Amino acid sequence: MMNTWSREIWRLLGYAAGGWLLGLVYGLPLWGLCAGLLGHSLWNLLNLRRLDRWLLAKPKEPPAEAKGVWGRVQRHLFTQRRRQRERSRKMRTLLRGIRETSAAVPDGVVILGQFGRIVWQNKAAAGLLGLKRRKDVGRSIAHLVRDPDFTHYLKKPERYEEGVEINSPRDDAVRLSIRLVPYGEGQRLLLIRDVTRLHRLEALRKDFVANVSHELRTPLTVVLGYLETLVDFGSELSAEQLDDLHRRLQNQSARMQRIVDDLLMLSRIEGQQSKGSNDVVDMPAVISAAVEDARSLSGERQHRIEAEVDAGLFLLGEEQQLRSVVSNLLGNAVRYTPAGGTITVRWYASGKSAHLSVQDNGDGIPAKSLPRLTERFYRVDTARSRHTGGTGLGLAIVKHALNFHHARLHVDSRVGEGSLFRCDFPKSIVHHTDDAQTDAAQKVTEELPD
Ligand code: ADP
Repeated sequence: MMNTWSREIWRLLGYAAGGWLLGLVYGLPLWGLCAGLLGHSLWNLLNLRRLDRWLLAKPKEPPAEAKGVWGRVQRHLFTQRRRQRERSRKMRTLLRGIRETSAAVPDGVVILGQFGRIVWQNKAAAGLLGLKRRKDVGRSIAHLVRDPDFTHYLKKPERYEEGVEINSPRDDAVRLSIRLVPYGEGQRLLLIRDVTRLHRLEALRKDFVANVSHELRTPLTVVLGYLETLVDFGSELSAEQLDDLHRRLQNQSARMQRIVDDLLMLSRIEGQQSKGSNDVVDMPAVISAAVEDARSLSGERQHRIEAEVDAGLFLLGEEQQLRSVVSNLLGNAVRYTPAGGTITVRWYASGKSAHLSVQDNGDGIPAKSLPRLTERFYRVDTARSRHTGGTGLGLAIVKHALNFHHARLHVDSRVGEGSLFRCDFPKSIVHHTDDAQTDAAQKVTEELPD
């Protein structure tokens, strides 16, 4: 550094001395000195102009070597500029990265500046809160989201950590969980999450607990009533009356047991993980056993039960669940078909998939009830269901078991004409035995004697 500056001083002295000496030759040493100093100033001005032009041109290349201290300044400025450019390039890349990541997250993110004005928002936030991505930037969030709970929350920084739940301003059916995180000076980060599913599950759980309690309370109250009668008047009752009371107690206890068994079955299916490769289930045998059970359930009501079964068609799956599907569908057909009615079970392959259908010519189901059939404890006619020993859980079990096997349930029914329940099993779980009869559907028709 000292070298450059001392050279610069020598240059100034050189110009002054040169001018003075030249002036001396012409007998005007003072004028010569002034001319020398003017020359030095002109040289500096020239270099300043060159630097100014070079700066204006926003150079990306290093400067052409200028002389003396000007060269130093130029190099210095160039290095600083290069560093600054590098820094802003890194910042831009970082910002782009942050924007792309925030845009990709399914949760909504809004940056709020002073007075709750929107500085930036990602796509999800705009979708969830019904905001316009560009137009609403700069507007206050309090004016855009007018839910009273949210407005109240916005004004209470001490509650920011708790968060708040509101319905989406865009769609009432969408439930949002919102949290504000303060940062910097007066800035806040608004995080929005769609919790509709969780909310619905929570509501379902509450409903379910209420339903189970209700379902169990009814038979329990009846059992308690009968027991009180037994305790208070047991000695006064005739043998016949006692028999009747015992039978009623047994019926109610059996009803409670059926509910608990079905609940356990449901929770077992829900807890089971679909492993992909399950056991080979002999569906023809499962159907044959279920037909036997249906026959004994039918008893004196003498339904005509027919089965058309492809004897070589097996499934890869959970036997207990599949048994439950067949027996629930057949049991319902028997229970909701008047005495003497016809029930047909078919087990067949079509294309590469397999189908189980249970058809009856019984009560049928009103169209408005069809979408709700597989809900837990849903019944078209509660009294009828209870009277026939129903728990209201049969079709919920069927649905869950079918979901487990990636299968679908199709219901077709008309009041007074009958119902058709068909399960469509995907080709991925269909298993044909090596049996020669594999392709030929073996027709087995079984009938109950009239
Ligand atoms: P439940 O134990 O009451 O039979 P499900 O879940 O098995 O419960 O069936 C739900 C409702 O669907 C039944 O209450 C009944 O009203 C109706 N249902 C089911 N299967 C049939 C059928 N084959 N015919 C007419 N109605 C049926």
